[in-house]
Amino acid sequence: MLRLLLLVPTTTYRTEDFVQAAARLDVDLAVASERPNVFGERLPDNLLTLDFNDPEKAACEVAALARLNPFSAVVPVDDRTTVVGAAIANALGLPSNPVAAVSTTRNKHQMRLALGKAGVPSPPYFLFTLADDPARAARTVPYPCVLKPTILAASRGVIRADSEGEFVAAFRRIEAILKTADVVALGSGSDEILVEGFIPGNEVALEGLLVKGALRVLALFDKPDPLDGPFFEETIYVTPSRLPGETQTAVADLTAWAARALGLREGPLHAELRVNEAGPWVIEIAARSIGGLCSRTLRFGTGLTLEELILRHALGIEIESLERERRPAGVMMIPIPRGGILEEVRGQEAAKAVPGIEEITITIHQGQEVVPLPEGSRYLGFIFARRETPEEVEAALREANGRLEFVITPKSG
Ligand code: ADP
Ligand code: CA
Repeated sequence: MLRLLLLVPTTTYRTEDFVQAAARLDVDLAVASERPNVFGERLPDNLLTLDFNDPEKAACEVAALARLNPFSAVVPVDDRTTVVGAAIANALGLPSNPVAAVSTTRNKHQMRLALGKAGVPSPPYFLFTLADDPARAARTVPYPCVLKPTILAASRGVIRADSEGEFVAAFRRIEAILKTADVVALGSGSDEILVEGFIPGNEVALEGLLVKGALRVLALFDKPDPLDGPFFEETIYVTPSRLPGETQTAVADLTAWAARALGLREGPLHAELRVNEAGPWVIEIAARSIGGLCSRTLRFGTGLTLEELILRHALGIEIESLERERRPAGVMMIPIPRGGILEEVRGQEAAKAVPGIEEITITIHQGQEVVPLPEGSRYLGFIFARRETPEEVEAALREANGRLEFVITPKSG
């Protein structure tokens, strides 16, 4: 029987979908996490505790276990486990990305260096650290620009600045984020601020699968809400893209080029690009699948989920088709209207009644805090829709969100 090891970081939205996908395959499932789990003692072979921050040690430990009971595949379910996933897969001799390539994608400055070296169209960039004087730094960069931490995700700490004054304010705001305990704990890179020239244009997200170095495009999403800053809250994703065919081809070609430049070869790939008169530009490439619960918009062939597809590819099980189901689909990462304590979400029934709406999932519990960007790192929830056209999908998502009412009270009051 095939044996699968899932690498599950402490905070991720992706576990359930991957575990369900594994359950639909005939595999012996083992799960590794960072903290000892109560089930670990009862099922020592199938629940592992690994230090994800020490990929080499984790790889040695798994290799030792694998000598007794080999693994057929190792799959990181999210950003935080991609590097350790590559280290383990390489130690086991399984098809994988090189560890160095994955590490490069995990630091935005390293990524820019690698893409720049290969000549991949990407914004000009400048690296600073918290030791730098922001007022002096502000005089050396072009405007508008975007300041961002090098090692965070989901737009956390990403801020546009149009002037030296805005630059200094943004720098200070990011500094505060970088000094929070959870970010300091990430270690290397947690004192870095990357500044990039602002690339105007329409943004798209490409979901792909690398197979022996070749990029297979699984889906291209438009992001129809303008992302002009100062913060970059992700909202609507709709597929298929409404961009002209030749632009979509240019996006796919540039993504493949960027993947090659980074040395990525195998497994899921999530890329964000901007498109303007000069063509497509790479904003970011990650060696993982789409984040949050957004993969639920996708179905392939005769109904495979994205997670099933990723697991099948990793396990070497035949995939009948990488074609996305034709029906247009989309998701809205529900915008956080303001910070505070989420008391109640009203109007969910009315929102679900909007034609085309399939599911609404609120991911912040009642009584928990919601934190907007640029500080926040958790989604308020997700709305999913399927309809006849991308325009209808987008309209349904907006209408459903409009029917939701979030009761949020100030945190201290
Ligand atoms: P994260 O990994 O946190 O998502 P990104 O670098 O992808 O960080 O930035 C988040 C968002 O900010 C992007 O999706 C894009 O909308 C915007 N953004 C980031 N860098 C630039 C840039 N150089 N020009 C224009 N927009 C940018
Ligand atoms: Ca991103």
